Amino acid sequence: MIIVMKAGADSQDKEAVLKRIMELGYTPHVISGTTRDVIGAVGDERGKLVLQSLESLHGVESVVPILQPYKLASKEVKPTRDIVKISENVEIGGDKVIVMAGPCSVESEEQIIETAVAVKAAGAHILRGGAFKPRTSPYSFQGLEEEGLKLLAKAREITGLPVVTEVINIETADLVADYSDILQIGARNSQNFALLKKVGQLRKPVLLKRGMAMTIQELLMSAEYILAEGNQSVILCERGIRTFETATRNTLDLSAVPVLQSKTHLPVVVDPSHGTGNHHYVAPMSCAAVACGADGLIIEVHPDPEHATSDGPQSLKPSTFAKMMEQLKKIAEVSGRTV
Ligand code: PEP
Ligand code: MN
Repeated sequence: MIIVMKAGADSQDKEAVLKRIMELGYTPHVISGTTRDVIGAVGDERGKLVLQSLESLHGVESVVPILQPYKLASKEVKPTRDIVKISENVEIGGDKVIVMAGPCSVESEEQIIETAVAVKAAGAHILRGGAFKPRTSPYSFQGLEEEGLKLLAKAREITGLPVVTEVINIETADLVADYSDILQIGARNSQNFALLKKVGQLRKPVLLKRGMAMTIQELLMSAEYILAEGNQSVILCERGIRTFETATRNTLDLSAVPVLQSKTHLPVVVDPSHGTGNHHYVAPMSCAAVACGADGLIIEVHPDPEHATSDGPQSLKPSTFAKMMEQLKKIAEVSGRTV
């Protein structure tokens, strides 16, 4: 249920509403607006009609049901789009298209520093790099783990770029959070509900990727797990889904961008690297993502893709990435945005 407070309601009114919601066995989530607050009361759907009684409390304008199964992620609760703050001068969800770039895996100090410096020079805003890698084969490179996190932190120190890196399990989530600015939940873990709850309890922005066989509604339900734990900084990522098509690694569902933006206030970014699996298709699909309104991109860049330990075929060389950034600026300008 959504409890809409009156424009003139004071903090005492709000406190009384929060107290009553909890007495009824629901969890309140306050969404502060410029003129009024809205309180989402979430919990067991079956008994929710008891919340209707809140209408009689002082300062309450109305109590309305949230129709979507995802509640806190829904535009019904918050019609305006979120701006997720990442660092002092980087935020995702505003007019600026945010570009995250870097290697699939952190491989060595030289590799990550060289890439970080190059993507920064080309105009990237955030450095990506996997330290814990969820690989399809147990015999593939599994990542440098904590050593990789330390190298990412070093690259951040040198370049000033905030860092996004993947969390693959609950056991190492706190460790990853100590080093990174954004916690990435990968496609393979996007319905690992215990892990989603864990990152919901950490106070770091979360980049939630769409699973390979996940509907848009399921993606929003996964986001709901994070939001329901009290972490309101969630960024969604379209990274391609499995279809019958084999010409690309996945089928990049760009229609997910406007669809998600019509259903949720959460920012939406696009990953054309995993979405296509081929470096030739990354720039065109990045341009298309910006054109259809994506809030950002996450791109794999490697100084020597032929020798990358993972995802070399879809990684751009720094020089190609720099050219693509110039193209993106022009595309963004058409819709009154910047990169
Ligand atoms: C990655 O970003 O390197 C990754 C493993 O992505 P995904 O979870 O989308 O496959
Ligand atoms: Mn990868």
